[in-house]
Amino acid sequence: MPGSSRIGRFIQPGPFKTEGYRTRDTLSSTRGFCMARITVDKFYCKGCGLCVDVCTEAIMVLDMEEINQKGYHPAKCIDNEACSACMNCATMCPDVAITIER
Ligand code: SF4
Ligand code: SF4
Repeated sequence: MPGSSRIGRFIQPGPFKTEGYRTRDTLSSTRGFCMARITVDKFYCKGCGLCVDVCTEAIMVLDMEEINQKGYHPAKCIDNEACSACMNCATMCPDVAITIER
């Protein structure tokens, strides 16, 4: 699909937070600059939280109300319009579970 990217690399998972330690008030948001669509393939997500930690807009969270087939809480984007399409989450994901379309 033109304009879409799907990249990833292996990184050893480390400690993570299920709630962002950054808030939007403390971020220089690029909201309105770019429209992007984030898709998390819940089947491949292992709930490691790396994408949550690296999201520059603090819009990635682990969905504590859902459990995937592997028994993990999958990541989800809670505000597509705020995404700057920085690709941090897709780059960081060790399971290549995130697709960014812009
Ligand atoms: S591309 Fe990923 S890390 Fe970057 S702002 Fe969007 S959801 Fe957050
Ligand atoms: S989408 Fe990838 S980086 Fe994010 S929690 Fe799932 S496996 Fe980890």
